[in-house]
Amino acid sequence: MIKEPPAGGLNHLWRSHVMNLLRISLLFLAAALETAFSGEGSSLVNVRSLNPPPLEEIRYATPYNFTGTRLYPVAAAFVHADAARALEAVQRELAQSGLGLKVYDAYRPLSVQKQMWNLIGDERFVSNPYKGGGRHTRGTAVDVTLVDARGNELPMPSNFDEFSPRAFRNYRRASPEQKRNSQRLQNIMVRHGFIGFPSEWWHFDLRGWEKYPILDVSLLKLDRRSR
Ligand SMILES: [Zn+2]
Repeated sequence: MIKEPPAGGLNHLWRSHVMNLLRISLLFLAAALETAFSGEGSSLVNVRSLNPPPLEEIRYATPYNFTGTRLYPVAAAFVHADAARALEAVQRELAQSGLGLKVYDAYRPLSVQKQMWNLIGDERFVSNPYKGGGRHTRGTAVDVTLVDARGNELPMPSNFDEFSPRAFRNYRRASPEQKRNSQRLQNIMVRHGFIGFPSEWWHFDLRGWEKYPILDVSLLKLDRRSR
């Protein structure tokens, strides 16, 4: 004859079985909801939500950029959640020295990348959207500089989007202060998971950026969603 387990033990087994079933059902439900509601770009985060938030000067939302054309309908900066986490770590570390980041550009929709390409059409200045889709289109690239507690930019070797040898990371003729600032920016970004682009001191890609999908969700839509 099989000895029955004590009632308490059976109860316990039954309860944990039910709990497991419940847990599995919840996981399925969560996955289904995510599929149903995650539109394109749901992985993107507004940099305004970082703590502390960086300053923003979104040049492509103005005509004051190298194309001379306003390309973004809103001045907003979005990055992939993975890049957002890394940027927040940078912001926290910089805050300890009374510094912070200023963001010039972040996620750029593929259609805007194409528009930019149509205006400029030179691979030295714009990545060709028809060859790999670009970097900013994945939400893993940011164009940034350093600012002090009052929001003043620290001197850097060149202006943002100045396409000249002065923008190169290995440019030797910058002043010691400019070199120190650009190196400081590079060091902290690299320490938190970014890679510096060799010919633009302001451009950083999250490590592994090639694996992130190219997106074409409009900034207006993202901005509305993040309010
Ligand atoms: Zn860039």
